[in-house]
Amino acid sequence: MITLTSDFECGNAKHITQLGDNHFRFEVDGDKQGGYCVYFCYDIVNDGPETEVTVEMWEDSQFGGPTGFPAFFPMTYWVRPSSQAHFRPLYETTPEVHRDHAVLRLPVEAEGSLRVALTYTAPYSEIAAMLRGFAEERAERCELFSLGQSVQGRELVGLRAGTPGKPKVLCVAGQHPHEHGGVWAVAGIADFVSSLIPEAVALRQAFEFQVVPIVNPDGNVMGRNAFNAEKLDMYAAFGDNPDAETPEAHESRLLWDWAAAAQPALWVNFHGYTGWKRNSEYPYEGWYEIADRTVFADGDQRRLYQALCDTLRLLTDAPSTTHTPGLHSPNTLCYQLAARYGIPHVFYEVNNSTSGRFGGIRCGVEVFRKAMATLEGCRG
Ligand SMILES: [Zn+2]
Repeated sequence: MITLTSDFECGNAKHITQLGDNHFRFEVDGDKQGGYCVYFCYDIVNDGPETEVTVEMWEDSQFGGPTGFPAFFPMTYWVRPSSQAHFRPLYETTPEVHRDHAVLRLPVEAEGSLRVALTYTAPYSEIAAMLRGFAEERAERCELFSLGQSVQGRELVGLRAGTPGKPKVLCVAGQHPHEHGGVWAVAGIADFVSSLIPEAVALRQAFEFQVVPIVNPDGNVMGRNAFNAEKLDMYAAFGDNPDAETPEAHESRLLWDWAAAAQPALWVNFHGYTGWKRNSEYPYEGWYEIADRTVFADGDQRRLYQALCDTLRLLTDAPSTTHTPGLHSPNTLCYQLAARYGIPHVFYEVNNSTSGRFGGIRCGVEVFRKAMATLEGCRG
């Protein structure tokens, strides 16, 4: 018998229907009609001999209209057979892509299962265990901390390294929970800042790093695209009211209070794109800026911000998708941290299709090193 299920951490598939012995159909479970209706993650479970299973993946029908689903194709389909420890790209077959759905013919091993996902998933439990491992193995260099608990009671767990009292650098990812490439990037930064690489040792003497790879653990575990458990988008943190005293979502308020109290020298925020963008160049990454630099009241901070933007444009793969940055609107944490406290940011979008775990980590460390070199250079 073959079954298809999404009932596990980071799973996403709904209205699952079996159309034949080896033929299933489901809809992705989206959050917002435009742009946040693409994530899927499901298991095909096989208790018989090796076989091929046809899966139709349909766009979310809950919005009663197109969700932009086809814009994400072509993409990498990440698969993990139960006999393997890691995800890899699906290479055995080329999916058929239609206007509102895609059809995959998937090989499933005997008495095993195949996990199929939009991303090289970065489950909350795995990232928390990774941070715990660093804290145990490198106890003289780093420690765990928490920003508090999510709506559903999960710790917003992070790793702290460096010298208390020195300028702080805060690094986050996972505001949009399915953007796992960004989570891997920030997990890589946690590894780097607690490593014995001489550059990292020197950075620990000059700064204090606080790194939280998953700021929306409920969204991660529930396999959401954009939302937390309150169905709020943590990127558009201030919703319709950029002048509100505090952000809307519970976890956004934890981030806001943390950053406002820390007054960091730099705020690093990783997100993720998806798909091999058809109008651009490998590796299809991106970045966001605040267009109006006068939002930084202080001239030195404005100059530092311009230098950080120059860094992303000239020293990273950020411009590979759009050549020019996306623009933060005033309802984002990045914008309000700049406007109210003069805190500069680096906001980078890793591509979930061209970066898995390794690619995300490598990207995160490279972007972080370049941003830190600019920060140190500008501070003199
Ligand atoms: Zn995002």
